[in-house]
Amino acid sequence: MTGLVVTFAVLGVLALGAAYLRARARAAAATADAGNARLAIAALPHGIVLCRGLQIVEFNRAFSILAGLGREAGEDLLITELLSDRTVIDRLFGGEEVTLETDLVRPDGVVCRVSILARPFDVGGGAGRLLVVDDIHDREDADHRISFLAHHDALTRLPNREVLRERLDAAIARCDASGTLCAVLWIDLDHFKEVNDLKGHTVGDRLLCYVAEKLRFEVPPGNLVARVGGDEFVVLCENILDATEVKLIAQQLRRRLNRPFLFEEQLVPVGASIGVAVYPRDAAGAEELLHNADLALYRAKAEGRGRSRHFSSALGEEIARRSNLAQQIDGAIADGQIETWFQPVIDAKSGSISAFEALARWPHPEYGMVGPLEFIRIAEETGSIPALTDLVIRNSIKAAANWPEHVRVAVNVSPSQINSELVDQVRTLIQASGFDPRRLELEVTEDVLIKDFDQASSMFARLRALGVTVAMDDFGAGYTSIANLRQLNFDRIKIDRIFTSDLPGHRRSVAIVRGIVGLARHLDLKVTVEGVETPEQVAFLRSLGCDELQGFLFSRPRPPGEFADVAGWRHETFLAPPPLQMIKTISAAE
Ligand code: C2E
Ligand code: MG
Ligand code: MG
Repeated sequence: MTGLVVTFAVLGVLALGAAYLRARARAAAATADAGNARLAIAALPHGIVLCRGLQIVEFNRAFSILAGLGREAGEDLLITELLSDRTVIDRLFGGEEVTLETDLVRPDGVVCRVSILARPFDVGGGAGRLLVVDDIHDREDADHRISFLAHHDALTRLPNREVLRERLDAAIARCDASGTLCAVLWIDLDHFKEVNDLKGHTVGDRLLCYVAEKLRFEVPPGNLVARVGGDEFVVLCENILDATEVKLIAQQLRRRLNRPFLFEEQLVPVGASIGVAVYPRDAAGAEELLHNADLALYRAKAEGRGRSRHFSSALGEEIARRSNLAQQIDGAIADGQIETWFQPVIDAKSGSISAFEALARWPHPEYGMVGPLEFIRIAEETGSIPALTDLVIRNSIKAAANWPEHVRVAVNVSPSQINSELVDQVRTLIQASGFDPRRLELEVTEDVLIKDFDQASSMFARLRALGVTVAMDDFGAGYTSIANLRQLNFDRIKIDRIFTSDLPGHRRSVAIVRGIVGLARHLDLKVTVEGVETPEQVAFLRSLGCDELQGFLFSRPRPPGEFADVAGWRHETFLAPPPLQMIKTISAAE
């Protein structure tokens, strides 16, 4: 009864408050009544909040104490930062007046149980909500907080793995009864570890909260979003009639999550890979459904991240292939089954061979030729990269013995291997063979910089001190900031073939390649362009002053024995370069 009286009293005062706010919006002079109303609201023991949309525009002192908000809070505070349950938000902001109980999460992480009365309210001429919020902690005992924490992740306040399992079992039972589908979307952030390591745990935590927030509001109401591991989230979608619905949800989430996150005026790159499995199509029960979504996620990651993949039975076969390759890779390196092939790199002035790039190939007895894009990732997971690099450098030194002395050999090194062991390994191999270190170049991709810039920079310096050269491979495809180039110790840029493929017709690619070549010249770096496939590209790249060219136009990678006359070799484009005009006239006449 007392509660009812209090509520009426509050609403009475709030009616005055409403009048006050409307008056203020019309920019009329403040009346004495409105001033009194404001004072009354401020003095009320109940938390009062006014929202425009989801944005908090006013709140009183009782609310600031209850919600643990400082004076500065409120400028662009969203109610969703305090109330994490999407269904609750939908009810509070949905239709007419409603009263409910829920958890309010304070910015310091403390959770309070509150009752909220919400009613439509005119805020400055626009539609808004008025919330009367009361702490009912006295009624709820401390067990509630403990139970909340047992079922929710402390950082993001999302439900945890246990809640997911319970909800999934219930969802599957409902599917069986109703003939509908449910789906698990397993989401993993790309490069989260790098962000955490490089930018610090505060940024990492903020990133996770940001992703949690995005998921809460992108996932349609009635579905569950849970955090199940460090940077892993699961969305459980229910009441699905057609699997294409899930596809659309996954696509939408992927798009929304693959946008950089702004933290203290810095853009932090974020991306997410998603694996999807649908019940009952892809699994017979909860455990298998989760497992298959995880397999699909694994596949999405292997395909280059930032993707969503759906489980299929063929995926099961691919996973089996991966696990077979993982089991066999050490043996294949040890007994030389993995071969080293070579692709020539051409001097852009003379057309002769100035280097070869060593590229690993695995002619597999069961699967045929397995390419490095597939097995290098596996080797990284199995820790087999140092042994592979050892094999490739040895084979390269052996092959180079048959080439003229000025011809270099370039070996790819995985970013994971840029450490002191690599320096020791290279030193030992050079000393044991007596190979001229100036003929050995190590190619490293830009990913190495996001892992640990300082470590990479010092390793580059130590490698160069041995006399070998270092090239930045696939330049432009990764994360290198131009500012990093200034501080780094390396010798060559290899421009990624994504830019070459649409040269010379594509305006943007032309501008980018021209820009990189100019920059390299000023920084005293050599430039090799990858992926050269047409004589027009050769003419254009030569006109820019690039140093070296590499691509299928000259030769695909081949086994070492196939390059007989390295010294005398010239590509035909250089033997009789027809003027561009002539090529056009001939083809027009044909
Ligand atoms: P990468 O170092 O950028 O090597 C160049 C890749 O581009 C090679 O693919 C080559 O075959 C391909 N390529 C060359 N010219 C053209 C062209 O004109 N057009 C097109 N479309 N492609 C061209 P490949 O051999 O499949 O190697 C892929 C990647 O695998 C390499 O990229 C490198 O990052 C990695 N890799 C290869 N061998 C090794 C190795 O021994 N160790 C390590 N850590 N990575 C390796
Ligand atoms: Mg390379
Ligand atoms: Mg490359």
